[in-house]
Amino acid sequence: MSFRATVLTLFPDMFPGPLGFSLAGRALGEGGWSLDTVDIRDHASDRHRSVDDTPAGGGPGMVMRADVLARAIDAASPEGDARPRLLMSPRGKPLTQADVKRFAAGPGLTILCGRFEGVDERLIEARGLVEVSVGDYVLSGGEVAAMTLLDAVVRLLPGVMGAAESASEESFEGGLLEYPQYTRPAEWEGRTIPPVLTSGDHGKVAAWRRAQAEALTRARRPDLLARDDGTD
Ligand code: SAH
Repeated sequence: MSFRATVLTLFPDMFPGPLGFSLAGRALGEGGWSLDTVDIRDHASDRHRSVDDTPAGGGPGMVMRADVLARAIDAASPEGDARPRLLMSPRGKPLTQADVKRFAAGPGLTILCGRFEGVDERLIEARGLVEVSVGDYVLSGGEVAAMTLLDAVVRLLPGVMGAAESASEESFEGGLLEYPQYTRPAEWEGRTIPPVLTSGDHGKVAAWRRAQAEALTRARRPDLLARDDGTD
């Protein structure tokens, strides 16, 4: 069975959005993966279809209600569903390529997108949600974060990326950033391509790329050299 994504959101019309284009979009159209959205508001129980309420203890904003969200999750991901249940959250573990690979190797994902000030903590505990962050900044909602995560995962699914766009030499593979890339024209605004790349010597090209990747990583992301996150 192919990878199944279910996204719980207040804004189902945002999907597939960017996931409907290019590699991910083509694979979606061909059944290489599937995407369903659940409108959280359909699981509200009152006349006003409310999904949020004021924070206990006071303070600004609104909090998404545990009871409404639980009904949405239980409908989308009943007991026995092997797919991890994620909550997009700036408090979560920052997403890495190792996580992306792990998700891509699994049966799919159920992803809850927060809005407002976030979701009632009791829901996170009771439904075993795994909080995942896409970076140390605050978005206005989890939808763009979910799209980011799914984009990264879907391109790794079998058959989605052509051989031409192979993932084997990318940034984060082997714990390094990618080496610089060049293409024609050979000279542009007086700038030339490093001669080794047009030398035809594959061994030298590989050594140059490796050295460049290491230097770039040391300069920009020394934390990657120290980290062993299992990507290799
Ligand atoms: N008050 C919260 C932020 C709420 S932002 C706090 O300070 O932690 C509203 C929603 O946007 C969140 O519930 C989450 O689903 C999403 N979101 C915001 N920033 C995110 C990030 N960096 N990664 C993943 N999701 C994020």
